[in-house]
Amino acid sequence: MPLILITGLPTSGKSTRAAQLYDYLTERIAAESSSSSTPKFRLHLISDQSLSISRSVYDLDPAHTPAHARSANASEKDARAALYGAVKRVLSPRDIVILDTLNYIKGWRYQLYCEAKNVQTPFGLVQIGCPVARARGVNEARIRRSEQREQQQQKAGNGTTKDEPTTTTTSTTTTTAAAAGTAPKSGDLHPETYQQSHQNWQQKQFEEESTAGPDFEDVTLSPTDSQEPYTPRSNWENLVFRYEEPNPMSRWDSPLFIITWDDTSADTKATFDQIWDEVIVNKPQKLIRANKSTVQRDKDPGGDYLYVLEKETQDIVKRILEQQAEVGEGGTVRLSRSGTKEEGEEMLEVELPGKKVGLPQLQRYRRAFVALNRGGIGLEAVGTLAAGRLRESFVGYLNDAFEKEM
Ligand code: ADP
Ligand code: MG
Repeated sequence: MPLILITGLPTSGKSTRAAQLYDYLTERIAAESSSSSTPKFRLHLISDQSLSISRSVYDLDPAHTPAHARSANASEKDARAALYGAVKRVLSPRDIVILDTLNYIKGWRYQLYCEAKNVQTPFGLVQIGCPVARARGVNEARIRRSEQREQQQQKAGNGTTKDEPTTTTTSTTTTTAAAAGTAPKSGDLHPETYQQSHQNWQQKQFEEESTAGPDFEDVTLSPTDSQEPYTPRSNWENLVFRYEEPNPMSRWDSPLFIITWDDTSADTKATFDQIWDEVIVNKPQKLIRANKSTVQRDKDPGGDYLYVLEKETQDIVKRILEQQAEVGEGGTVRLSRSGTKEEGEEMLEVELPGKKVGLPQLQRYRRAFVALNRGGIGLEAVGTLAAGRLRESFVGYLNDAFEKEM
């Protein structure tokens, strides 16, 4: 069944809510299937943790890239490929997949949306709302805890901290100057060593500043919490900076459900009920979406036909530009099929691409469509019937064209 993405800032409470959603769905599935012997759906929770993806894959700082890595973001790309593969393997009309990872890139969410569409299964997005200072506080608490653990280990006398994943990824310090907290002097060192050492010093300064600088709330970790922090702090800060907010007008960010940190269990249950109704059992009927780019043609078109062809396609271009301003990139534009918006009539939908479409581009598509259909589209009648079918056909043509664009 559906693919449900959890999205939110790093350490904002995503896994906590994902686990609650998992428990909720487990119960509902059991209740639904009690009459029959086999459960209706299978449920999967996929996360960075379930695939053993380390927090360090998100660190883009080239200074922390291990020597054997292809580039600073290669590890994140590999992580995404692993997540994608894991989703693809199980997603089917009988499997519900919860994907608990940052899901912070718009293009990535689009890719997953398309995957769900490919297997003809619904899709939904749950955003976790949490103030930045609180999320930062969670990371700080985890840093503190892991530092305390390190100290305890050292006190205990074994002194080795090599098995802490956080320290193995940041070991590029080459000189004592970098570790000492004073800026290295260029005269003392070979130029290349100096450059490296200066970079390390800057990094250290940045990390120290970000402890004291940006505000964070004092957060108490739950006793069962055992997650590693994002280190260095710049890794966490960068993820916040790179976070691409979902836009519920885009079809790959909808339906969008929001759960905040402070939501009570009753609030959360109400949202889960909504997810169950809207995404799992009763996906609201989509309005018709014309998909054919051309309709079979015959007969010699009359003069009226060419006039209608120009007029209707122009009208659609105009309305798309008008509505785009409201619905934004990736939004859905609704158009009257008849061009006159009769009471209760079916509407046509144009799904806009992920970037803004301009008049020149729309005119290019329009001219191409007109050229294709100049010969007529197999209509005996002109007038409203022809207009309706032309509009539907042009909308289908645009949907095909836009789908290739993102
Ligand atoms: P993420 O998956 O986004 O990194 P987690 O779900 O692991 O975040 O949560 C981080 C920490 O914050 C955990 O210790 C968790 O217990 C705590 N936490 C998360 N959400 C809440 C909440 N709504 N109320 C109280 N504590 C929470
Ligand atoms: Mg998590």
